[in-house]
Amino acid sequence: METPVAQSQPSRAIALGSLSALSAGLPFLVLFVVGVALPLFGGGYWGVIATRACVYWVLVSGLNLVVGFAGQIAIGWVALLTLGAYTASVLVAGNVTPPFPPYLALVVAAAVGAVFGLVIGLPALRLRTFYFAITTVGFATIVTQVALAWQSVTGGGVGVAGPIFPPPFSSEWGFYYFCLGLAAICTWTTANIASSRFGRALTAIRDAEVAAEASGIAKPALLAMVFLFSGAVAGVAGGLFAALQSYITPDAFTLDLSVLFFIAILIGGRSSIIGPLLGTILLTVLPEFAAPLVAWSTFLYAVLLLVIVLAIPGGIAEILDFKSRRPLDSHRAIIPRPDLLPRLFGSPTDGSLTLEQVALSFGGVQAIDGLDLEIRPGQVHGLIGPNGSGKTTTLNVISGFYVQQRGIVRLNGTALPARAHNKRAHMRIARTFQTPRIVGSASVLQNVMIGGTIDGKGTFAESLFSLPRHRRDEAVLRDTAMLALSAVGLERLASVRIDRLQHSELRFVEIARALMLRPAYLLLDEPAAGLSAEEIKRLGALLLAIARAGIGVLVVEHHPDLIFDICDHITVLNLGRKLAAGTPAEIRTHREVVYAYLGG
Ligand code: ADP
Ligand code: MG
Repeated sequence: METPVAQSQPSRAIALGSLSALSAGLPFLVLFVVGVALPLFGGGYWGVIATRACVYWVLVSGLNLVVGFAGQIAIGWVALLTLGAYTASVLVAGNVTPPFPPYLALVVAAAVGAVFGLVIGLPALRLRTFYFAITTVGFATIVTQVALAWQSVTGGGVGVAGPIFPPPFSSEWGFYYFCLGLAAICTWTTANIASSRFGRALTAIRDAEVAAEASGIAKPALLAMVFLFSGAVAGVAGGLFAALQSYITPDAFTLDLSVLFFIAILIGGRSSIIGPLLGTILLTVLPEFAAPLVAWSTFLYAVLLLVIVLAIPGGIAEILDFKSRRPLDSHRAIIPRPDLLPRLFGSPTDGSLTLEQVALSFGGVQAIDGLDLEIRPGQVHGLIGPNGSGKTTTLNVISGFYVQQRGIVRLNGTALPARAHNKRAHMRIARTFQTPRIVGSASVLQNVMIGGTIDGKGTFAESLFSLPRHRRDEAVLRDTAMLALSAVGLERLASVRIDRLQHSELRFVEIARALMLRPAYLLLDEPAAGLSAEEIKRLGALLLAIARAGIGVLVVEHHPDLIFDICDHITVLNLGRKLAAGTPAEIRTHREVVYAYLGG
C-alpha cells in the first residue's frame, strides 16, 4: 500500500530527531576520543585492561540486544566467547586445517558464533525466563567440557596459542586500536538497531508482548536475527580474547566471566547502549583498582548489582537521563485534532468484519456463546454488557489472540485463519487494550512508532549500517507518528518518557499507535476508563471522526453516554450471549436491557 502520509510536520520531526541524535551521540564521542588518546596517558598494563574492555564490549554490545532490549535472560553467553576463541585459535594454529590467516579465522569465528548464537537462542521462543537462562548456562558448561575433552583439536587442558595479528596490529597498542575500532563499529551498529523499528520491536516484545503481536511484529524472525548478530559479535570477541590472552585453556572461560557480561548490562540499564558500555568499562576496570579484592570480585559484583537494582532500577542509563527529571506541565489538556485524520488513512474499504455464531469457553465458563456481529466501515459499533459478559473475549477472538471453538470470523467475506496473532495487523485490524500496554522506558513517540513496524521496508542488515532505506523508514515512521500524535492531541508530549504520562493520556497514545497501522478496522477495549467527562467527550468526537474517515470501529465500553452518543449500532452482551442489538434509540428503550444493564 502506498503511504498516504504527506510530509506532515517534517521540519519539526526532523529537528526533534537530529537534536536528540546529537545529544545522544555526545557521550560516545567523548569515550571514543578518550579511547583514541589513551596511549598518551598510560601504558603497560593499562593498555591490556583497555583492550580487554574493548573485547568484552564487542560481546556485550550484541548481548545487550538480547538481554537489555529483548529482555531474554541469556546468562551463559561465555559459551560463544569460548567457541569464537577456539575457532580462531585452532584455525590459525592449523591443528585441523592448513593454517588460516588471522583475519579469515576471525570471520569464521563470527560465522560459528552466529550459528551457535541461533542454536542457544532458539529455546527462548518456547522457554520462559529462568528456564531459558538455565539452558544457556548448560550450553556454556557443555562447550567448556568439549574444549577440555577434544584434545587433538583444542589441546585439552594444555590449551592452544591464540592468533597473532600481523602488523600494524601486532604491537600492544596496535592490537588495542584494532579492538577499539571493532568496539566502535559494534557501538555504532547496535545503536542503529536500537533506534530502528527492529530495536523498538524488541523492547515491545520485552515489555508489551501482546501489543507487539497486535502490531504485527513476528517474534521468532526478529529474535532469530538478533541471536545471529549477537552470536557473530560474540564469536569475534572470542577471537580477540584469544589473541589478547595469547594462550587459551578451558579454565579461562569461567561462568564468572559470563556473569560479568550479564551484570554489565543490568547495571547499565535496559534499552540503553551507553549504560551497558559504561557498565562494561566499570566492571573491567574495577577489579584492577581493588587488586587485593580480586578473590572477592564475584561478591563485589553481587553487591554492586543489588545496590543498583534496589536504589536505581534503571541503572546507569537512568542516572544519565537528565531530561526525564525536568518536571512536566501538570495542567495539560488532550485536544485531539480529528481534521488531521484523513491525512493518515488510505482509501476506505468496502465490505465488513463479521462474526458468525462464534463461541468460546474457558473450562466451564462459556465466555461467548453463538455470537453474531457485524462491523461496517464508516460506522461505530458499540459492544456493551456487564463485567464478565465476554466483551474482551470477543475482541480477543477478532484480533486473533484467542481461537474460537465454534463459528467463523470473516473479513470482507473471507474466513480469517485461526492462530495468526500477528497476521491481523497485516489485514489492517488494529486494537487497543483494556489495560494500556506500553514500553515504559521509551518515549511517547517511540511507543507510537511501534504501531507502524510492519510498514518499514528496510531489512535488519540495512538498519545495522544505517543504509538509505533504513533512514527513509525512520523518517516516514517518525512523521506518521507525529501526525498520529497530533491527531489524538498529544504531540507536545512526543519526546517524554511514556511512563511519566497519566493514565488518560496512555489511552490516547494507544489509539495513536493503533492508527499507525492505517487500520481498516479499529477495536477499542474500554477506551474511556479513567477519563474525565470532558476527555470522554473529546474521545467520542475522535472515534466518530475515525469512523467517518472510513474505518470500521468497535468500541467496548461501560460509559452509556459515550456509547449512546457516538454509536451507529449497539450490541448488548450478557453472559456471553447477545441480549439485544439495534440502534441507540432501540437499545435505550429495550426492556430487558433497561432492566438488566441500565439499572431500571
Ligand atoms: P468482559 O470483558 O465483558 O468483562 P471477558 O471477556 O474478559 O469479560 O470475560 C468473559 C468471561 O470469560 C469471564 O467469566 C472471564 O472470567 C472468562 N475469561 C476470560 N478470559 C479468560 C481466560 N483467559 N481464561 C479463563 N477464563 C477467562
Ligand atoms: Mg473486558
